[in-house]
Amino acid sequence: MKKNVDHDITERKRMGEERRRFEERLSALHTYAQSLNMADNIEEIHTLTLNAMEKTLGFEYASFFMAEGKMLRLVAHRKYPKMLKVNLPLDGEKGVAVKAARTGKPVFVPDVRKEKAYIAGKAGMLSELAVPIKLGNRVLGVLNVESERLAAFNEDDRQLLEILASHAAIAITNLKRQENLKILSEKLTNLMEGSTEIMHVEDMRQRLKVVAKALREFGWRRVVISLRDENLEGTDVVTAGLTKEETKLLLERKAPGHVWRERLGPKFERFKIGEFYYLPWSDPWIREYVHRVPAEAPPEEATTYAGVPSRLSPEEMVDWHPQDMLYAPLRTPEGRIVGILSMDDPVDGRKPAKETLTPLELFLHQAAIVIENAQLIESLREARKQVEAYAEQLEQKVEERTRELKKSQEQLLKAQRLAVIGELAGMVGHDLRNPLTSIAGAAYYLKKRSSSKIDDKIKEMLEVVEKNIVYSNKIINDLLDYSGEIKLDLVESKPKSIIREALSLVKIPKNVQVIDLTENKPKIKVDVGKIKRAFVNIVKNAVEAMPKGGTLTIKSREIDGKVEIAFSDTGVGMSKETLEKLCTPLFTTKAKGMGFGLPLCKRFTEAHGGCFRAESTLGKGTTVAVTLPIKPKIEEGGEKIWVKQLESSLLTTMKI
Ligand code: ADP
Ligand code: MG
Repeated sequence: MKKNVDHDITERKRMGEERRRFEERLSALHTYAQSLNMADNIEEIHTLTLNAMEKTLGFEYASFFMAEGKMLRLVAHRKYPKMLKVNLPLDGEKGVAVKAARTGKPVFVPDVRKEKAYIAGKAGMLSELAVPIKLGNRVLGVLNVESERLAAFNEDDRQLLEILASHAAIAITNLKRQENLKILSEKLTNLMEGSTEIMHVEDMRQRLKVVAKALREFGWRRVVISLRDENLEGTDVVTAGLTKEETKLLLERKAPGHVWRERLGPKFERFKIGEFYYLPWSDPWIREYVHRVPAEAPPEEATTYAGVPSRLSPEEMVDWHPQDMLYAPLRTPEGRIVGILSMDDPVDGRKPAKETLTPLELFLHQAAIVIENAQLIESLREARKQVEAYAEQLEQKVEERTRELKKSQEQLLKAQRLAVIGELAGMVGHDLRNPLTSIAGAAYYLKKRSSSKIDDKIKEMLEVVEKNIVYSNKIINDLLDYSGEIKLDLVESKPKSIIREALSLVKIPKNVQVIDLTENKPKIKVDVGKIKRAFVNIVKNAVEAMPKGGTLTIKSREIDGKVEIAFSDTGVGMSKETLEKLCTPLFTTKAKGMGFGLPLCKRFTEAHGGCFRAESTLGKGTTVAVTLPIKPKIEEGGEKIWVKQLESSLLTTMKI
């Protein structure tokens, strides 16, 4: 009995001792935890953790494994040979530590000789305990202890190691967060520097180049900024990290505007990370819809990619695929898309995450503003150019108008002068009529009274007087006709008979042949007296133009309700200057000319609503044509007064 009691007492004592020892080890661990929390590099974490394992927890053989990519690597250890190197695949069968990492649970190996996974780090080990370093479900590494005794580790050891492992896990993530913060702050510094640099660059393309280069600093080997119009059609590209050939290929393979409109639309909303769109090749819909690879084709069939092939090798990639696409619209503050940024070949071979992309959004805005500013400057320049061009045009217009004004002023002056001359001529003509009538009467009297007594010489002289009285009368009539109002007395008549009458009034020399081809039809309604006088003037001019003889051909033809009568002579013709001044009153090239013939002719025809034209070749001959409407649009019956535009607007004011 006593023995039993004794046994109980020793057992209780032993248990008490164990608990005391456990608590001692636990509280020592806490002190370590605090220093672990303050560690600022990973080596310090390894050392502190191994110190805790060795000195506080009393493990002789201790090691620290870290999960790196797909491997579990021994990073620090105690008591083993210095050069010990272990690097095991995480998905392999070898290594107790690997087993702990893979299962995420502690692994007890009381007898290593019975454990398949066991790998000897040092000869003579008999038992082992491995505890994963975990953050949530993620295994960061493994703490491993070994002993030369069999089944050397118990539950207390496991518990304490697990506590230590959790402290190590926190220390590692703290460190990672710190590192990330440091990287982020470095990037932000770069960003700020980039921004100020951008502000200093004038040219848009250069500015965008700075933006593209800054983006490369953020871990992207290739950056493309494409400028887009309102339909998202590409207008220009700025690249960084692309070879000339790649840029060429990019331009050749560029997707049209509507494709980009879709890629920035609701269909692709679910691929958004902040303002970026990340289109992973691993997504079957993306493969089929964007890359046009049949859904049933294996994802590794990568030859159909439309863009510029990636330069990343498979070893350089972690979870980024060379066919992955990453892009973002460049939006102005008002939301207008002015370009698209795309990035490729991440330096770390990783797919983008929100934390890595968010800082880049600043660049998107910056690039958009650079483009918008350039557009504004361009449109400003355009506007200025337009204003300049307009000013120039205005100047030209002013000059033109001034010239026109001067011309019309000259014309006005001329018209005024003509009006005065007309008035004067009218007055003179009128005043001359009476004395001329007296002279005519006197001459007639002389001729009658002494017809038998006067000799031939006197008779001849009297005839000269009579002839000149007729001529003077004609001049006076012309003067009065030109300066006064026109009264039309319209009668229906045949063109041929008017011509015949006109020809009978002109003395045609022997060397001049007249060919009259005028028709009788159609009849025209005209003031026969006035039209006849117009024709007389034209025929006289023609005869005077052919002093050495020639032919005068007169033709008539009907066009559009009008009759044209053309007089063609084979005379001396006219110079350009003469032709221009033809209808100016008082213009003549003849010694005895009055310069009223054609102006009167023009006035008469225009009074009928017809027109007058002349063509001439110097030395060859002249054609003068008069066109008269068959039925003039003047009220029928009685006497009509027609008033001509320019000259007559002044002329109408004077009455004879
Ligand atoms: P005038 O006969 O009194 O000179 P017109 O008004 O009849 O005045 O003619 C003006 C000028 O036009 C003439 O002086 C002459 O130079 C030119 N002219 C008119 N008709 C002809 C013609 N058929 N051939 C050549 N010159 C002509
Ligand atoms: Mg004449």
